[in-house]
Amino acid sequence: MTANTESIVQAPAPQLVEHPRGAEPGKPGDRSAFRFEQTTRLPDSPNGKGKGGARYGRTGILHTPHGDIKTPAFVPVATQGAMKAVLPESMTQLGAQCLLSNAFHLYERPGEDVLDEAGGLAKFMNWNGPTFTDSGGFQVLSLGAGFKKTLAMDVKGMKSDDVIAEGKERMAFVDEDGVTFKSPLNGSLHRFSAEISMNIQHKLGADIMFAFDELTTLMNTRRYQENSVERTYRWAQRCVAEHERLTQSRLGKPYQALYGVVQGANYEDLRRHAASQIASLDFDGVGIGGAMEKRIIGDICAWICDEMPESRPRHVLGIAAVDDIFACVENGGDTFDCVAPARCGRNGAIFTRDGRYNIKRAQYKHDFGPLEEGCQCYTCTHYTRAYVDHLLRAHEMNGFTLATIHNEYFFVHLLDDIRASIDGGYFDEFRDETLARFYANGSRG
Ligand SMILES: [Zn+2]
Repeated sequence: MTANTESIVQAPAPQLVEHPRGAEPGKPGDRSAFRFEQTTRLPDSPNGKGKGGARYGRTGILHTPHGDIKTPAFVPVATQGAMKAVLPESMTQLGAQCLLSNAFHLYERPGEDVLDEAGGLAKFMNWNGPTFTDSGGFQVLSLGAGFKKTLAMDVKGMKSDDVIAEGKERMAFVDEDGVTFKSPLNGSLHRFSAEISMNIQHKLGADIMFAFDELTTLMNTRRYQENSVERTYRWAQRCVAEHERLTQSRLGKPYQALYGVVQGANYEDLRRHAASQIASLDFDGVGIGGAMEKRIIGDICAWICDEMPESRPRHVLGIAAVDDIFACVENGGDTFDCVAPARCGRNGAIFTRDGRYNIKRAQYKHDFGPLEEGCQCYTCTHYTRAYVDHLLRAHEMNGFTLATIHNEYFFVHLLDDIRASIDGGYFDEFRDETLARFYANGSRG
């Protein structure tokens, strides 16, 4: 047993940051507590996707009131203010630097007032570090399109503005002012707008928030995407105004940074136009969101970076695959959230440097090796494939815990290694070797 794994059971819980940086009684949050410091940038290359062969990939430090994030960084998703089946202490032990929760889910349950009263999201869930909340737009609008029909979808030439998954009831309607939707919990009617999202997110108290935007899908028509980008810009202006009002009126709280989100689907001109609109507003950072086809995910990041001041940190919302992470890092992404490691882990899909496999396959029933040879995570240094396979088949919750710890460790450390490769000047070699090995057997990732 290594010192590292020993400490997970013996170390006391980390101390909470009782006094976040830049919070003083009776004063608005100090905006200088949030800033991005760039360390190393990838050299330009003839293959660079940015203007003049620019490559925007970089390392840096994102300073926030609840602590620093070394970037590029992986951001595990604690949807409802919790990693499913894994304690925050374990997330700290496996190296996670920050967590992202969903404003929509926390609004529904327990309600933003509870988190405000608790002292904000980090304190509420005993997470000793920076937090993000998304705006709620993704969840609200995906009620309209049907769940899981939004990112990296198979378009098959379909074009329709009335996108809705087969067999799903339409549950969200967009108008100029906002979105009306039916709660999936109890069917009651609710409304989200720029102002409502900002009020909710200020009460949730995360270090980094996102402006309320309209999520479109790749099946919407070009005309719809154009109108939607303009609407998202009008909502972004309202978000900035409401955010400033709330920052000035909610005294004694740490500053919360606000990222504007760039939509525009796969269209280069729309993405560039949306990016320059978002760049013109007083946001702290940029969220790269919306429907994107996998083959041009890196190009989309580069188009946006072309139009954006480099001082602004960039978050890529909801990506899911190892090759997408490399494409987004190379083209300027600083932070990345993804539900895949936890969701896949609960289904038995285990990520390794040699690709993804399902631990519930019969061959692992008598396999007493670790989930991944050489992995230093808590699961791999204490438990076997045979045991994790058994737990998952028996629907034992410890199976979810152990599989999730390994998968989150995989992604957190993949980003740590990518960061080291940029600083060390060997990113291209590391990318090529890692992707060749991960996809050698054609595994999905
Ligand atoms: Zn492991």
